[in-house]
Amino acid sequence: MSQDKVFLIGAGPGDIELLTLKAVRILKQAEVILVDDLVNPEILQLAGSLAQVVYVGKRCGNRAISQDFINRKIIQLVHQGKKVVRLKGGDPFIFGRGGEEMLALDKAGIVVEVIPGITAAMGIAASLGIPLTHRGLSLGVTLVTGHTQNGSNFSWKALAKSGTTLVIYMGMSDLTEIVSQLLKAGMSPLTPAVAVRDATCVTEKQLFFTLGTVPDQAEIMKFGKPASVIVGEVVMLARRKRAIKGVTRVA
Ligand code: SAH
Repeated sequence: MSQDKVFLIGAGPGDIELLTLKAVRILKQAEVILVDDLVNPEILQLAGSLAQVVYVGKRCGNRAISQDFINRKIIQLVHQGKKVVRLKGGDPFIFGRGGEEMLALDKAGIVVEVIPGITAAMGIAASLGIPLTHRGLSLGVTLVTGHTQNGSNFSWKALAKSGTTLVIYMGMSDLTEIVSQLLKAGMSPLTPAVAVRDATCVTEKQLFFTLGTVPDQAEIMKFGKPASVIVGEVVMLARRKRAIKGVTRVA
């Protein structure tokens, strides 16, 4: 592990065994590990006993921690000669702000090596047995943010017509609005969907519905986080599904 290098590691969706061998090897050598709150804490047991762990997740009561602060902290630690690992949930480059961190480190002349992780979409797909691009049912897969207030004014119409499976990250609090946009954009109310919380963890929970029978806000809030939603015909193939109201299962 060279001193002027930071490893940006994807910790996967939760199940510790979904880490790459490379991630495990580098974690063992790290002196400082900066961790997000989506990372399963068990993963830190793989680090060396002397490694210093710094929690920089915004949900761990650290609301004041800005992206800028995190970037500066990493740079400072590298300049102190520390072997730094930045550990992020899922894959660092899928809605993980890994891009911002990489650019900030580039600017500071620090080499970044990215070690990919299994993103939530893939974790959910594997856990539920949903082949995201199943031939005849889906032309592809689109990963989108459900943070609709954050200026993400993408075209719901284009998404609805894309013929791809949609995986909506960070979409639970705006789920009712998102579903209503998809219906307005022409998707059938019979389109199956599933919300999945804590995919690949023992606490995993699933909620199946159709766009026409979206759960009410109270149920959505009770469901908990982190959760993502998969929308598309491929959801019919889920092996561990509970009852889907108004939808018949493909044999
Ligand atoms: N980089 C991460 C995503 C970070 S954005 C990745 O590649 O997975 C945070 C969002 O990821 C959450 O709001 C949720 O939508 C999703 N997410 C992360 N882990 C999840 C999990 N175990 N189960 C379901 N959704 C998850």
